[in-house]
Amino acid sequence: MKKIGVFTSGGDSPGMNACIRAVVRTALYYNLEVVGIRRGYQGLIDDELVPMHSHSVSNIMQLGGTILRTARSEDFMTVEGRRKAYENLKKSGIEGVVAIGGDGTFRGASVFMEEYPDVRFVGCPGTIDNDLYGTDFTIGYDTAINTAMSAIDNIKDTANAHDRLFFVEVMGRDAGFIALRAGISTGAEAILIPESKTDIDSLIEKLKNGYENKKTSCIVVVAEGDEAGGAFKVAEEVKRRGFSNYEIKVSILGHIQRGGRPTAMERFRASQMGMAAVEALMDGKKGVMIGIVHKDITYTPFDQATKHNLELNPKLLKMVEILS
Ligand code: ATP
Repeated sequence: MKKIGVFTSGGDSPGMNACIRAVVRTALYYNLEVVGIRRGYQGLIDDELVPMHSHSVSNIMQLGGTILRTARSEDFMTVEGRRKAYENLKKSGIEGVVAIGGDGTFRGASVFMEEYPDVRFVGCPGTIDNDLYGTDFTIGYDTAINTAMSAIDNIKDTANAHDRLFFVEVMGRDAGFIALRAGISTGAEAILIPESKTDIDSLIEKLKNGYENKKTSCIVVVAEGDEAGGAFKVAEEVKRRGFSNYEIKVSILGHIQRGGRPTAMERFRASQMGMAAVEALMDGKKGVMIGIVHKDITYTPFDQATKHNLELNPKLLKMVEILS
């Protein structure tokens, strides 16, 4: 293998730049040429390929977002779009690609490799949601929970000053990992996540107990994908059922969770995974996602990484019950 490509795809996440940097520097170390593909699959179709040098990735570790930009590509979902992408890869002599993205990105790579088996894709898990099977951490997750934690700390200050109950919505369409970690780290009174059934009556009971025990404020962290609805809906329902011990407020953290300086852990793990991805391509691997499990690098086939549902550790739910 003489030349590889790297791109970021799907939602951006902090730490993607550290991963790109590791891919580029590792490739150069092993005397491979490396090309940056801008805006994910769409850039591949539109031929947005840029040669990368060591200095192309200087001074980017500390930046959120992704220097290669990212995109969701409708065109890549079509046979014609993938054909164009293949032609551009062939034209530039790229034999292997490191795809940094989430489950959709790996599904796209699998479809592509079925049609064009001579191009090898290896993935790095880039998503704040931590919802991929085969890795303890996805790139972006640690920073996202730290950002959510800091924001909730700030909200707690004002909640305390005014005897308020805050429903704070954090990201997580299908998974409650961010909600659970950020909630436990901020001592939230309750955490509502898609993986467990939300019972509004028990929630109210819990909030009443807190009030009777002289709690001056309460924080309920709600994952955006909770089946009871988002934070606004749950707050409405709690009000509708007559809970009035605290003044009720809602705060949606939104996209602040996607940006910002990656944490030290994020940069470290993203660097490890980027380096491992290039070495995997050189070893002849394809169709696998690099992960870290118990500190070791792992290789999980794309279909397993995306199809398995990750289960939350039930001990964490118990922990919320005991500690709040
Ligand atoms: P995140 O978890 O942050 O949303 P993601 O990688 O899951 O990231 P998606 O938008 O789901 O983000 O997927 C990225 C891109 O992968 C899509 O825009 C599309 O171009 C491509 N893709 C996804 N699924 C397929 C598929 N079945 N066939 C072809 N391409 C696909």
